[in-house]
Amino acid sequence: SEFNLMELVTECVEQCRLADGKHSIGIRGDESLLLFADHDRIEQVLSNFLTNAFKYSPEGSAVEVHIERLDDSRVSLSVTDEGIGIPEANIGHVFDRFFRVEKTSQNYSGMGLGLYISSQIIQGHHGEIGVRNNPLKGVTFWFAI
Ligand code: ATP
Ligand code: MG
Repeated sequence: SEFNLMELVTECVEQCRLADGKHSIGIRGDESLLLFADHDRIEQVLSNFLTNAFKYSPEGSAVEVHIERLDDSRVSLSVTDEGIGIPEANIGHVFDRFFRVEKTSQNYSGMGLGLYISSQIIQGHHGEIGVRNNPLKGVTFWFAI
């Protein structure tokens, strides 16, 4: 169905704030973006991105959600953190089922499924999903549909 993306982001961030409370979360972008997609699945992807951003970055650091229109038919959402980043040798595998960065996984618990599920959801919408290391620190996860 069709929904306002900023409303979804605001709700999801509000819930994540209650669960985490240790990061400063910023939201920016177009407040009028409408998306025709599965609302609850898209919320699940954002929630997975945010959960990772909180888990793999220090308390008190900033997390930013950004939404924008790319062209007539596509919108994008990204989550940027200031965390530990991902080694370039591993970054191509983070959407694989059960994949976890070996060094990271010694200090944080998880199944290696959140990003795999997220990529399945975005593929189900015929969209694109990706990640890049930021110039200074941390990573940016994004999808476009
Ligand atoms: P879960 O199944 O509970 O989500 P997980 O967080 O380990 O477990 P994914 O969310 O699929 O699994 O992430 C896969 C791996 O990618 C993580 O184990 C971690 O090594 C790396 N990763 C994911 N997000 C980030 C991030 N924001 N910063 C640094 N590394 C990350
Ligand atoms: Mg995860």
